[in-house]
Amino acid sequence: MKLDVLAIGVHPDDVELGCSGSILNEIRNGKQVGIIDLTEGELGTRGTVETRYSESSTAAQILGVSVRDNLKMRDGFFKNDEAHQLQLIQAIRKYQPEIVFANALDDRHPDHGRAGNLIKDACFLSGLMKITTSDDQGKPQEKWRPKYILHYLQDWYHEPDLIIDISDVFEIRMKAIESYTTQFYSGDGSEEGPQTYISTPDFLDSVIARARMLGKRIGVKYGEGFTCEKKIGILNLDSLLQVET
Ligand SMILES: [Zn+2]
Repeated sequence: MKLDVLAIGVHPDDVELGCSGSILNEIRNGKQVGIIDLTEGELGTRGTVETRYSESSTAAQILGVSVRDNLKMRDGFFKNDEAHQLQLIQAIRKYQPEIVFANALDDRHPDHGRAGNLIKDACFLSGLMKITTSDDQGKPQEKWRPKYILHYLQDWYHEPDLIIDISDVFEIRMKAIESYTTQFYSGDGSEEGPQTYISTPDFLDSVIARARMLGKRIGVKYGEGFTCEKKIGILNLDSLLQVET
């Protein structure tokens, strides 16, 4: 199945927190979007692998993505090495995305930066013909290089190269994030057990504040920000939001 956009996150919920508004925008625009989680999030303080799967599948349904795969790399201990790059190259060649959303290149959680660099390296290497991979049936895969890798902002603030207006889909985005009831504060009592950095009401407040702040930068209510190492080109001026700021 060919996808227009592939959103990759190291922990189930990274994609929801980082770029689910932009995913919703693309799906509304008729695009095929899929998600790949690199790990099962098995080191998370709260919840279990099973609850993580059920939460991420609920979120995938809310977003309306075509596919959500899990590469089952080791949470906390995966490496940006040849074996992991080849595993990701196989997934990139399988879905042939034009655009990839990826973890931040540098962040509070070391997995995020390592995953951001692993995704970046795999996207480049996937375009090299002499790196050979096979699909699930053992058939050789074609080389494929996504045109843009957009790294979503995570915990640490980085000055974005691109901000996308997500005002129209903001409520659904928050519903997708709130599907992770074991991870984030929901107010219904399910937040029993050890509290973490992300399980308090303050964390969700900060998620909303970040979107509001990024929206303000481009003159809309809510935004999602991305960094991109490549210069972003546009077809014509119609792609520019024309809002007085
Ligand atoms: Zn994460």
